[in-house]
Amino acid sequence: MIPYGSHFLDDDDIDAVVEVLRNGWLTQGPKVAEFEKLVASYTGANYAVAVSSGTAGLHLACLAAGVNEDSRVYTSANTFVATANAVLYAGGQPQFCDIDPDTLNMSIDCLEQKFASGEQINGVIPVHFAGLPCDMARIKSIADQYATFVIEDAAHAFGATYLDGSRVGNCKYSDMTVFSLHPVKGVTSGEGGLITTNDEALYRHLLSLRSHGICKGNFDFPGISKAGQGDLINLDDALVDGELNPWYYEMQELGFNYRITDFQCALATSQVKKAEKFLARRRELADLYDKLLQGAQAITVKQLGTRQQSSLHLYVIEIDFEALKMSKGAFMRELASKEIGTQVHYIPVPFQPYYADKGFHREDFPAAKHYYDRALSIPIYFGLSDEQVEFVVNEISSVVKAHLS
Ligand SMILES: *Cc1c(COP(=O)(O)O)cnc(C)c1O
Repeated sequence: MIPYGSHFLDDDDIDAVVEVLRNGWLTQGPKVAEFEKLVASYTGANYAVAVSSGTAGLHLACLAAGVNEDSRVYTSANTFVATANAVLYAGGQPQFCDIDPDTLNMSIDCLEQKFASGEQINGVIPVHFAGLPCDMARIKSIADQYATFVIEDAAHAFGATYLDGSRVGNCKYSDMTVFSLHPVKGVTSGEGGLITTNDEALYRHLLSLRSHGICKGNFDFPGISKAGQGDLINLDDALVDGELNPWYYEMQELGFNYRITDFQCALATSQVKKAEKFLARRRELADLYDKLLQGAQAITVKQLGTRQQSSLHLYVIEIDFEALKMSKGAFMRELASKEIGTQVHYIPVPFQPYYADKGFHREDFPAAKHYYDRALSIPIYFGLSDEQVEFVVNEISSVVKAHLS
């Protein structure tokens, strides 16, 4: 079976993990810091914080951005549920913009209209769908005008570049950027996530939230410096004769255990070293698909002309199933019978029963609906061969032809 996406591991990756296992650090240790440093330098951000999943990263980013019960935060209707759920975890209300039918990203016109309508908006979480970065300069200028935060959901976009050529994750246009290290994403640690930022205060806050809201030797203890201003701490716990007690730690807020392990970070570090190689191959594959699918009947290739910018996490086409008089399910099953895996990204989040129950209506997202009815993600991943791409295109074309006549 050719899956729609797959990770790639080589002996270097395996050796990196085994070495950590032999050396005794299991939970957070030196490999976490090493990975964070590498990613900060790769993306061009000042700081990176590795966490247990992309979802955990989004949750912490929302908390650090100040999302609470009074917050309303806009994201794209076409994303994975985790983006919106993270806002809910922090107590806020997610809201959705319809998509732009060409980029498949959140419609920035829609976002602009929402702001202009005067409704309360506290933040924006644009999603770089399929690896194609949103027009962040435009989103940032709108967000600045209304003084709201921006968190990029870059789960699909490791290695992608903005229109100005700089790398996604440098946080030039946002407060924080969140990546996922799930095996189906660009680089993997098994499960894992990553937040980048240029803001030192956000960075410290994220470190604290990642581990129970505890400060422990990594920076100043706010409780000690504020002692005497309300007696929240008994200084004797912290200090004896002006010296810090060796066991001392200080919980200042409610945090989580969202730590990632050292062996996962050893794997992720080894993967990041191959990121350029991964990207180059994905570009070759996308170019080949673009060429082979040119002029194909009943098929529209999406995000064409953006291959140099995109990390090409997904290769998405639209198929006119109505013209084929065939359901998408039947089409996918027919491809599966030929050992070709496909997927649909995504059922628009406001269409999910949980969100429909909150009062979101399909009719309010016509572009997402139109896209969803036709969308199909076809196989793209580092290990895919040119021959397999040709096979996939031939099989898709033959199913289309059989049903058009
Ligand atoms: C995968 C994904 C996430 C969540 O990442 P996990 O690491 O699986 O928690 C969030 N947003 C988008 C758009 C994703 O594709």
